[in-house]
Amino acid sequence: MARKTLVIAESKEGQCRHVSFEAIAAAKQLADGGEVVAVLCGDQVEAFGPILGYYGADRVLIVENEQLKSYTPDGYKQALMQVISSEQPKAIVMGHTAMGKDLSAGLAARLDCGLVSDITDLEIGDKPLFIRPIYSGKAFEKKRINSEMLFVTLRPNNIAALEKDETREVTIEVFDVVVKDLRTIVKDIVKKTTTGVDLSEAKVIVSGGRGVKNAEGFKPLQELADVLGGAVGASRAACDAGYCDYSLQIGQTGKVVTPDLYIACGISGAIQHLAGMSNSKVIVAINKDPEANIFNIADYGIVGDLFEVVPRLTQHFKEVLQ
Ligand code: FAD
Repeated sequence: MARKTLVIAESKEGQCRHVSFEAIAAAKQLADGGEVVAVLCGDQVEAFGPILGYYGADRVLIVENEQLKSYTPDGYKQALMQVISSEQPKAIVMGHTAMGKDLSAGLAARLDCGLVSDITDLEIGDKPLFIRPIYSGKAFEKKRINSEMLFVTLRPNNIAALEKDETREVTIEVFDVVVKDLRTIVKDIVKKTTTGVDLSEAKVIVSGGRGVKNAEGFKPLQELADVLGGAVGASRAACDAGYCDYSLQIGQTGKVVTPDLYIACGISGAIQHLAGMSNSKVIVAINKDPEANIFNIADYGIVGDLFEVVPRLTQHFKEVLQ
C-alpha cells in the first residue's frame, strides 16, 4: 500500500547527518511506492536540499527561519506541525538522535499517533512491523502501530543509506512557517569537544576500559581510531576513573552504538557495557585475561597486553591503508 512518507532530516555542524540518509532509505520501504518528502529545518540549510535528493528523497522542503537556528522543542514542533498539516503524510521517519528522541515524542502526542522509537529494521506489508531491541539488546520485539499515521525513529547505522546518485532529479521547495512565543531560546552553545568523528554515527569505534590505566593510555587508542577513520569510546569505569570524558561512555547509561567495527581494549564485558555495543557488526576484543566476558560476544579475540597489541594494529593498518 503506497503511503506518502515524511523524513525529518537533521543537519549538524555544517553537514547533513548520515542517519537522515538512512531514514530516507527506511522511508522508501515504508512508502511502498508512495512519495518520500524530506524536510529540513534550520537557518541557512538550503544547500542540503540537493543532497537529500541524491540519497533518495523525491521532494525536499527547506524550512528556513532564524528562530530555528538552534534546536528547541517548541520551535521545531511549531514548524513541523505546519509542515505535517500541509503535507498530510501517512508515515514519518527520523533518526533516533538526541533531537529525534525529544521531538518524536512531542510530535506524536500532538498528532495523537502511535510511535515506535529506536527501530533497527522494518518488515513491509499492509500493516508494517517495526523491529527494535529490548532488554539491553538481548532480545528484539516486533511492533505494529495501531493508528492511521505511523511514526518511527531509526537507530543510526542499522539500515543502509541508498547509494548517492547525483543524477537523481529532486524538487526543492521553500516552506515558510510562523514560529512565535518560544519558551526556550538558545543564546549560545559551548562545545565540549570540537574535533573528531561523532561517536553515535562512527563506522569504527576503538573503545577503552579500566585496562587502559590512565588518560595517557587512551593515546594509542586515538591513534588507531585516527588511522581507521573512527572515534574513541570508553567504558564507564574508564570515565569514572577520569581517564576520559563522560561523553565517550558507551553502555546502558551511556551511548548506544552500532558501528561496523568495535574494538574493545581492556574492557571486561560487563552486561551494562554490552548493552551499548553488542549490536556492532564486528567486535574485536583485546584483553589480557582469556576468561574475560567480552570474548563471549567478540567475533575476534586477542589475548594480550593492549599496549603491545594496539600499536601493532595501528602500524599494520597504516601500512595496508596507505
Ligand atoms: P573492568 O571490569 O575493571 O575491566 C578491565 C579489564 O581490562 C579486565 O578485563 C582486565 O583483564 C583488562 N586489562 C587490564 N589491563 C590490561 C592490559 N594491559 N591489556 C589488556 N587488557 C587489560 N559500564 C559501562 O561501560 N557503560 C555503562 O553505561 C554502564 N552503566 C552502568 C549502570 C549501572 C546501573 C551499573 C550498576 C553499572 C554500569 N556500568 C556501566 C559499569 C559496569 O558494571 C562495569 O563496572 C564497567 O563496564 C567495567 O568497565 P571495564 O570493563 O572498563 O573495567
